[in-house]
Amino acid sequence: PLQAGIVGLPNVGKSTLFNAITRAGAEAANYPFCTIDPNVGVVEVPDERLHRIADIVHPRRIVPTAFEFVDIAGLVAGASKGEGLGNKFLGHIREVDAIVHVVRCFENPDVTHVAGHVDPIRDMETINLELVLADLETVERRLERARKNMKSGEKRFAVEAEALEQLAAALSDGKPARTVAIAEEARGLLRDLHLLTAKPVLYAANVDEHSMQHPEENPHVQAVMARAQQEGAEVVPICAQIEAEIAELDAEERAAFLADLGVAEPGLNRLIRSSYRLLGLITYFTAGEPEVRAWTVRRGTKAPQAAGVIHSDFERGFIRAEVIAYEDLIAAGSMAAARESGKVRLEGKDYVVQDGDIMHFRFNV
Ligand code: GDP
Repeated sequence: PLQAGIVGLPNVGKSTLFNAITRAGAEAANYPFCTIDPNVGVVEVPDERLHRIADIVHPRRIVPTAFEFVDIAGLVAGASKGEGLGNKFLGHIREVDAIVHVVRCFENPDVTHVAGHVDPIRDMETINLELVLADLETVERRLERARKNMKSGEKRFAVEAEALEQLAAALSDGKPARTVAIAEEARGLLRDLHLLTAKPVLYAANVDEHSMQHPEENPHVQAVMARAQQEGAEVVPICAQIEAEIAELDAEERAAFLADLGVAEPGLNRLIRSSYRLLGLITYFTAGEPEVRAWTVRRGTKAPQAAGVIHSDFERGFIRAEVIAYEDLIAAGSMAAARESGKVRLEGKDYVVQDGDIMHFRFNV
């Protein structure tokens, strides 16, 4: 399964956030594909649409989809030079598919800051610099090899060297690899370099209790937002401390607590949904008597591969899919009415699944 890695300097609230995620947590038993590891937390993706579909279909149960967060603690300044357990942590980041970068925006005299005082921009720069330096080393090593190989006269090495030079120039400038437009022919190379700064990133601005309702008024959050905007990255303000407390409560207490705070849902839900999008994931549904269920596929997945997420037999024996868009089902009010008005389509093996599709697969066994 795809994983989002939580990174950030020490004492910014990573473990607090991770604990909130794990406790809010999903019954891992429902998700057999998920990893069992104390540093990996399974989260269900909160999705109102499941409940609206269930209102129509009246299933016996509702099953949301899930993905994983990995707690990558221990990143410090100097990691790329092997400070702390530097290389080990960079290695963990290499394995995740997207990065949730936690920055400290809360003031708390009892919690020391590794650099003396709260300054989220400096923190962002510190972490990003480590990632950039690690990538620069990877790129330069590979570039040296490509230059040697170029002597063979094979064209692909020249293409590779050119792309690597482009990357090295950007990284030397402190820019992440994701900002570099790489030639089509060199995309494969880029993928197997597993560059840290090529991964999509979002910033979780960890604010204190007082800033929860109007985080956009907090000057630290404003600074983070301005910087993130330059990078084209999203910012999700969150109060990790409160989220961890919310996650401890049972459903009834939780509702009362959220009402007290004057919010409709835990901030964690937004972080989960944003991370899901960041991973390039979309949701399709299956809707039947036994269950209404959400399934995850990468954006761009075709119908047979989407069917394969449920069972490999569905992919192998795929014939067709009956598809209705979520909005069309809701507007029709029932599956029968949707069918009558011609909103249920028959799609073949080249159909690209859309977020919110409700699918029924026909297949040979
Ligand atoms: P990590 O080193 O990044 O994993 O940071 P921790 O999650 O261990 O948090 C460091 C300290 O900051 C702990 O004492 C937390 O209780 C505190 N902390 C974390 N999040 C918040 C927050 O949102 N508000 C406040 N006031 N304190 C927080």
